[in-house]
This record gives sequence, structure tokens and C-alpha cells, in this order.
Amino acid sequence: MTLINIICNQNQYSKDTADLLKQKLTKNGFNISTNYCDNAFLNIVVGGDGAFLRAVHSSNYSKIPFIGINTGHLGFFQELSPEQIDSFIEQLKSKNYTLEKVFLLNSQIKTPKRTFSIYGVNEITIKSNSSRTVHLQISINNTFLERFSGDGVIISTPLGSTAYNYSSGGSIIYPSLGTLQLTPLAPINSKIYRSLTSGIVVPNSHKIELIPEYRDEDSLMISIDGLQHQYSNISSIVTSMSRKTITILKIESKDFWTNIRDKFL
Ligand code: NAP
Repeated sequence: MTLINIICNQNQYSKDTADLLKQKLTKNGFNISTNYCDNAFLNIVVGGDGAFLRAVHSSNYSKIPFIGINTGHLGFFQELSPEQIDSFIEQLKSKNYTLEKVFLLNSQIKTPKRTFSIYGVNEITIKSNSSRTVHLQISINNTFLERFSGDGVIISTPLGSTAYNYSSGGSIIYPSLGTLQLTPLAPINSKIYRSLTSGIVVPNSHKIELIPEYRDEDSLMISIDGLQHQYSNISSIVTSMSRKTITILKIESKDFWTNIRDKFL
């Protein structure tokens, strides 16, 4: 219980903060690895939310708890500021923290030869890989809902509801609700194309299935937490809440709504 992974982005302020953190943790009897180690007890990510998301993905959704030190802009996931390093170390030594589980979403990308399974903390976004309109048949829990035409759709978790989803007119969802939100990006509504113009929130037991129309199956750009993936011949994309979790170490039990007010208003 002494080894800590420090994962840092390339920004100079982050690197300086990570160096200071390393010195202070070492002085307090902790061992540090700057390469991801499976036997560490904590992952500390120095950077913004983007760095946090990349650390989760590059560690293959590590079971080791994560905490972030914000040297980025918003830092919605990043609980600590660099000024809080000393008090954080004290809390860590006295084990004065809580562990919070966060459920990931899972998307199964089906192609004739293979099904690819990808996981996300914030959201999956399906758009065109050029600037063309996409056409998707959308079903929820095997019930056909609509034929969507527009820029694309976002399917977000409650944690991701404050990210791309929120900028696109989606609602902020309280984390423990565990729902998925399907938010349209510039839906076309005319006599030719008709689809819902607002986001819809579905229970965590429901699956959202998107079937691209034949001319879109090779031209979709799929991005999960900002990381882009491209597949050929997509026959469907099925998204649901998975049982896979990551764990976030919490020092202050800051109320969710206080965080929303402090970060957004
Ligand atoms: P990025 O530059 O790493 O992030 C874009 C902005 O989203 C940053 O300000 C980031 O905070 C913030 N952010 C990330 N997760 C958040 C969350 N759960 N709640 C509130 N804000 C959050 O962009 P990227 O590498 O392309 O993608 C990473 C994430 O950015 C994606 O998962 C997506 O949600 C979001 N994004 C947003 C938009 C948009 O709002 N129009 C467009 C594309 C992507 P930091 O400043 O702390 O990094």
C-alpha cells in the first residue's frame, strides 16, 4: 500500500506539479511510478478532464482508484487543485477518504466479421467522418423509435452529461441515477425527415441500438470520450450501461450541485 502511479499530461504546469507531488509523496514514505504499474494502490492524474479520460483508457479501465489534480481548464473530474497537495497527503496517510464506483457505458460495434466492444466514462458520439448528414434507425430495447437524420447523436452517462452532452443541449443528470441519455446533434426536422429534437433519458437496463443506413455504414466516425475509432461495414451500434466500473477516490465529499454551481455558473 505504498506504490502510487502518477500519470501526467505534457503541459509544463502539469509536469512541474507532478514533480512537486512526487517529491512530497516520497518524503512521506510513498513509492512513485511514472509508468502505469498494476500493483499500485492509487492512480493520480495530473492534468484536466481530458488527461483523466485518457489515463482511464490507457490503463484499460484500471481497477486501481483514480484521483485527479487539476492543471487543466475545467477539471470536472479533477478533485484537487495543486495548492491542496499537502492536505491531500495528510488525508491519504490517515485514510480519510471515500471510494466511489462509476459505471462505464459499453458499445458493441457490429460488423459482418466481428463485434468490437468499447467502454466509455463520458459518452459515445456517432457522427459522419466527413461533414455529411448521417441517417440512423434508432431503437430502444428492441422497439423502433425513429429514423434520425442530422449531424449525429451522443449517448452519455450521468458523469458525461456535463460534457459534450450539455454543450449540445442535453440535460445534467445526477450521477446515482445511472441512466443513459441520447442527445441529437442538429437533428433535421422537416416533412422529409422527422426525429425527436430533444435528448431522451433511458433507464440503465435499456439498450439503445443505432442502425446506419447503407450509405453511412463506412462513413461514420465513432468517438468515445474524445478518442476516435473507425470501422468498416457497421451493421449496428448497441449501447448500454455495463457492469464495468472504475473507482474514484474522494477526499472532500463535495455535494454534486455545489460542483455544478462552482464549475458552470
Ligand atoms: P478536451 O479538450 O479534453 O475536453 C473538452 C472540454 O470538456 C474540456 O474543457 C474538458 O475539461 C471538458 N470535460 C471533459 N469531461 C467533462 C465532464 N465529464 N464534465 C464536464 N466537462 C468535461 O476534448 P476531447 O479530448 O476532444 O474529448 C474529451 C471530452 O471532451 C469528451 O468526452 C467530450 O465530452 C468533451 N467534448 C466536448 C465538446 C463540446 O463541449 N462541444 C466537444 C468535443 C468533446 P478540462 O478543461 O478540465 O480538460
